Amino acid sequence: MNGRIGVDLGGTKIEALALDRGGREVFRKRVPTPRGDYSATIAAVKALVRDAGEGSVGIGIPGAESQATGLIKNANSTWLIGKPLRKDLEAALGRPVRLENDANCFALSEAVDGAGMGAAVVFGVILGTGVGGGIAVDGKIIRGANAIAGEWGHNPLPQPSEQDFPLPPCYCGRAGCIETYLSGPGLSRDHERRTGQRLKPEQIVSLGDQSLERYMERLAKALASIINVLDPDVIVLGGGMSNVARLYTEVPRLWGRHVFSDQVATRLAPPVHGDSSGVRGAAWLWND
Ligand SMILES: [Zn+2]
Repeated sequence: MNGRIGVDLGGTKIEALALDRGGREVFRKRVPTPRGDYSATIAAVKALVRDAGEGSVGIGIPGAESQATGLIKNANSTWLIGKPLRKDLEAALGRPVRLENDANCFALSEAVDGAGMGAAVVFGVILGTGVGGGIAVDGKIIRGANAIAGEWGHNPLPQPSEQDFPLPPCYCGRAGCIETYLSGPGLSRDHERRTGQRLKPEQIVSLGDQSLERYMERLAKALASIINVLDPDVIVLGGGMSNVARLYTEVPRLWGRHVFSDQVATRLAPPVHGDSSGVRGAAWLWND
């Protein structure tokens, strides 16, 4: 077998990478995503894979393939929704393609040779413009019966306290979703509601005031509910908020009160591969 090619089909850029048989990076290229244009998106992936050469092809997308229909759902790159993307890519590339949600690719990448290397159960969390997640067990993604395993962002925030009300409305039609508090924009909205000041997440983080304290308490509660269900060895954070160093010391201090255990052995870790985790995880979809 030749190497493994991974493609991260994002909303603003498409990135491809090739790993040799030893897992070393031997090719990388990125192009802007032809937003809104489905056939141009297929053509862009085809050109990148041609440049990457021979090898298996895994693709990460900001969405999921419906198990029922094979069509794309839950994608914020809306021009992919309802399309038979995997079939169309296989036809264009002349190779079998494995397609996965990008948060699942992140979890897989960190599980195979990142922050979760050697751990049996890894929960990968995206804290970015949205909140997503993925589960890798023994170096394999758990996709789930509905292809939504790990998607904790649209669960309600556990045990909301006075400061969490009124529950913020979410684009998914619910209110008080974890994503409305723990995404970057969620932190900005919360800070504005409290202070009247409109700031970027990184500005709020550098203030280090009550808004960040509240964010960390909410993250601790939300992750504690994951620990109670999945009991992962490692939780790896990704997305813009994963750059906040304080999370890794403060949140494990806070989550103990919410976890149903005398001690919590779960580690909270920053990503090893950072922004490359998605494209690396896509390549590792052929990890068998
Ligand atoms: Zn929601």
